[in-house]
Amino acid sequence: MIGGSRRLGWPGGRRLRIPSLMYHRLTSHPDPHPCSMVLGQFRSQLKILRALGYRTVSPRDIARALRGGSPLPTRAISITFDDGYVDTFTAALPILKEFGFTAVCYVVADRVGQLSDWTEPAPLMGWPEIREWLAAGMEVGSHSRTHRDLTVLSAVELQDEVAGSRKLLEDRLGSTVPTFAYPFTVHGPREREAVEAAGYEAGCAGVKLHDSIFALSRVEVAANSLSWFLIQLFPVYPELHHLYVLSRRRAPWLLP
Ligand SMILES: [Zn+2]
Repeated sequence: MIGGSRRLGWPGGRRLRIPSLMYHRLTSHPDPHPCSMVLGQFRSQLKILRALGYRTVSPRDIARALRGGSPLPTRAISITFDDGYVDTFTAALPILKEFGFTAVCYVVADRVGQLSDWTEPAPLMGWPEIREWLAAGMEVGSHSRTHRDLTVLSAVELQDEVAGSRKLLEDRLGSTVPTFAYPFTVHGPREREAVEAAGYEAGCAGVKLHDSIFALSRVEVAANSLSWFLIQLFPVYPELHHLYVLSRRRAPWLLP
């Protein structure tokens, strides 16, 4: 059975949903980049997580727990950064260390040390920064080779983006790259199967109504208020989000 279609749950049918946060850029001043957040806001969010007793786990830990491996802490949360921007290293890493949290950074294998070319150009971490990120106890995952929409690629191209990026990263870093995050969070059954076939332990998506090991739900944390951030931590947030999207579609006059 392909994991991409597997519903998550503990033996006995109890559902497991660990909040998983997805960040992109952190900046010292408000930035027009669509997925950026100011540093102070990120620090405040981590402060809240620490005050609430959260402990960080990685998507790999979540996948292993779901497969019946070691249990997770009571208040587990996963922190992820997509794309591998330089500010993940210069700005996020010191704050993560200050609060004793770990995170996974999903890097674009063929763009390491270059500028992002799938969004507003922004500098990406080089190999030395990625190695330091790992040495600090953080984790690296693959975000494909070139950050293209995988769903429009040929089978050969898909294989290269998914399995090829893993091989390249593992060869250059000398460590395992256990999980994959879909570029633009876009995926279907074919892409989830490719991720599983390439030997990854889990795949990360965007916010989803139903989790599966190869499409773990993640919440995009944007420059919102702290009260909205707290709402995003609720295990039922994906259901709320789904309801909101449905309501906007069916009765757009009711909601902003
Ligand atoms: Zn991305």
